[in-house]
Amino acid sequence: MHPLSVGRIRVSAIVERAGPTPLAWLFPSVTPEMLERHRDWLAPHFLDAKGRLLQSIQAFVIETPGLRAIVDTCVGNDKDRGGRAPFHMMRTSFLEDLTAAGYPPESIDVVICTHLHVDHVGWNTRLDNGKWVPTFPRARHLFARREWEHWSSENDDDTKRIMADSAQPVLDAGLAQLVEMDHRISSELWLEPTPGHTPGHVSVRLASEGADAVITGDLMHHPVQMAEPWVTPFDSDVDHAHKTRREFCERYADGPVTVLGTHFHHPTAGRIVRHGKGNADVPAAWRFRVDA
Ligand SMILES: [Zn+2]
Repeated sequence: MHPLSVGRIRVSAIVERAGPTPLAWLFPSVTPEMLERHRDWLAPHFLDAKGRLLQSIQAFVIETPGLRAIVDTCVGNDKDRGGRAPFHMMRTSFLEDLTAAGYPPESIDVVICTHLHVDHVGWNTRLDNGKWVPTFPRARHLFARREWEHWSSENDDDTKRIMADSAQPVLDAGLAQLVEMDHRISSELWLEPTPGHTPGHVSVRLASEGADAVITGDLMHHPVQMAEPWVTPFDSDVDHAHKTRREFCERYADGPVTVLGTHFHHPTAGRIVRHGKGNADVPAAWRFRVDA
């Protein structure tokens, strides 16, 4: 994504990883033919010539006068994810890229995690002499209370690993703040509840000098979900996630709000536009139009 101005706010994407995602991994019940019906508006940014979905894992840095925040901290390096691809023991230059973009970790005031999944909390910590330490040593880390309560009481190995290496060290350092799902960080920056993908999932709203933007988090994983009711295996509550997605599209369609898709491939930012009334094959009625 090209850096974006929202009034006095500047938003930059720091990409950890980008490229094709296997269709069967993201939408197991969808065939390539079903996806191809949307080529006219998805290609080339979100669907490549070979019919593959394009996605990113990225963090957004938000600069307001007086406050620097980062939204979602990707997968992180060196994390043991039980040997399971694609997130196990990753090594990327994310932290160097963040610094090179002008945002050294010490300069971040606030970390916002839209939810506590593996690809949104990873860089909360980094390995230092065999110990997980907060990557952003000065930052308040905002977790929705409901989200924290849900995942910290789960007992499966995957979740326990993620909490132990990417959330607990932040709490232990006294840097975590459990907040309500509509928490206001400033007059220009606040959380918007969008539960379903996970119980305490939030989106992030920005407003400045008459300009508006919203960061989706994972209420959508790909723009095609504006036009299709497709769900991913990663949604905690499929029906709730779908309802939240539809309400989100209703709320922002044909409006002035720039939508930044957390997993949307470059150029990432655009508008939701209404597209007819839909039909039996394509029940929902929106499209994504990228900013020029
Ligand atoms: Zn995600």
